[in-house]
Amino acid sequence: MTVFGNQAVRDIETVLHPYTNLAAHRDTGPLMLERGQGVFVYDTSGKDYIEGMAGLWCLSLGHGNEELIEAAASQMRKLSFAHLFNGKSHDPAIELAETLKGLMPVPTSKVFFCNSGSEANDTQVKLVRYMNNALGRPERKKIIARDKAYHGVTVASASLTGLAANHADFDLPIPGILRTACPHYYRGAQPGESEDDFATRLAAELEALIEAEGPETVAAFIAEPVMGAGGVVVPPASYFPKIQAVCDKYELYVISDEVICGFGRTGKMFGCETLGFRPDSISVAKALSSAYVPIAAVTIPEAMYEAMLIESRKIGTFGHGLTYSGHPVAAAVALKTLEIYAREKIVAKVAARAPQFLGHLKRLAEHPLVGDTRGVGLVGGIELVADKATKQGFEPKQGVAAACVRFAEEEGLIVRALANDTISVCPPMIITADEIDELFRRLDRALARTQ
Ligand code: PLP
Repeated sequence: MTVFGNQAVRDIETVLHPYTNLAAHRDTGPLMLERGQGVFVYDTSGKDYIEGMAGLWCLSLGHGNEELIEAAASQMRKLSFAHLFNGKSHDPAIELAETLKGLMPVPTSKVFFCNSGSEANDTQVKLVRYMNNALGRPERKKIIARDKAYHGVTVASASLTGLAANHADFDLPIPGILRTACPHYYRGAQPGESEDDFATRLAAELEALIEAEGPETVAAFIAEPVMGAGGVVVPPASYFPKIQAVCDKYELYVISDEVICGFGRTGKMFGCETLGFRPDSISVAKALSSAYVPIAAVTIPEAMYEAMLIESRKIGTFGHGLTYSGHPVAAAVALKTLEIYAREKIVAKVAARAPQFLGHLKRLAEHPLVGDTRGVGLVGGIELVADKATKQGFEPKQGVAAACVRFAEEEGLIVRALANDTISVCPPMIITADEIDELFRRLDRALARTQ
C-alpha cells in the first residue's frame, strides 16, 4: 500500500481532478509540482522533469519568463480589471485585437475574447447559429466535426469533440452536430490505399454526408489542423485541400481550431497555413499567453460581423460575453507574448528545430513497441502497438501507454498518453537542441522499460 505524504492526502481529500481516473488517483496520489524554470519543472522533492507537453500544449515560452511576469504585474497595478460589456473598452484589449488581426492568415474583421479553448469553440457554435438566424436561414445550423476531434468540454464544444469519454454519461452530443472521419492514415486507410487515395475518399465521404443531410441544413465545418488529444493526427498533405474544395462547393463556414497549432507550433504561424486550408474563422488560446494567464480568442470575418449588425439593429444587444472577455491583465500578457514571439522569431526557431525533433520521432518508429510516429514542427505522437505487423493495439486494461508515461516521469520527463495509446510530445517552443536530445534520451529510457 502506498503511504502518502501530507500534501498528497490533502489533495486526495479535497481536489476533484480534471481528466483523471478518479478511482486510480486514490491509489497513486498526485505528482506534486512546485516550481519551474525554462523547459524544466521540479517536484516537491527537487527532482527535475522536462516539460515534454509544455504543460498541456500551452507553455510555449517555458517557466519563469520575467517579461511576462512583469507585464502581468504592471497591468495589475495600472488597471486590475475592466470589462468590455456595454461598449466599454481599454487599451490592452484594443491593442491585442489589432495585433491578432495583423497576424491572421485570413481576412478578419473583429476579435472576440474568451478565457479558454472550450469557450472559444462554444462561441463558434453560437455564432454560426446567430449568423444564420440573422441571415434568415434558420434551417442552416448543422456543424460538421470529426471523429477523434478535441474542441473542448463545455456542452457545445464537448459535442464537437469526437472522443467517447467526453460524451459518455454526459448525455452528449447535443443535436445538430454531424460527424465525419478522422484523417488518421495509419489507422483509417484501407488496404492498398495511398495517402492521396485516403484523402480523396474522406473528402468524398464528407460530400456524401452533406448531400445526405441536405446541403441547405449544413452550416459549418470545424477542424484542428493537427489533431491533438485525438492522437496527434497529422493528415496527409492533400487532405485539407480536398476537404476545403468540398467546403467551398457547399459554402460551409470553415473554422480552424488552432488552440494547439496557433502561434508557431507547426513551423508556421498557424496550422492552417502548414496544412493548406483557408478558414473563415480561427479559434486560439493556450500559446496566446504562453499559458501564463487564461485567454482565448475567436476571429470574426466581415460577413459574419455584417450579419450580426443586422441582428443588432433588430434586437439590440448581442447577448453573448464573459465577465473576463478581454481581461486587461490577460490581454497585456498576451500582447507581451506576441511581442516576444516576433522579437525571438519563434516561428523560425520552431521550423529550425523541427528536423532534429522529427528525426528522433523517425528513429523511434524502429522500436518494437512503436507502430507509427507522426509529427510536424514541434508536436509529435508515438503510437504504441502490441504487434507491429498487424497494427494490433493493446487492450485498454493493459495500460501500456499509461505505464510508459509513468516510467517517463520516473526518468524525468512529462508526456501524455492519448487516444490509440499514442504518447504525445509537445515541448515549449523555446527548447534548445541539447534539451531536445535530453528529452528523447529520457523517453528512450522510458520506452526501454515499457512492455
Ligand atoms: N481545442 C483544442 C484543439 C484543444 O487542444 C483544447 C484543449 O486542449 C481545447 C480546444 C479546449 O481548450 P481548454 O482546455 O482551454 O478549454
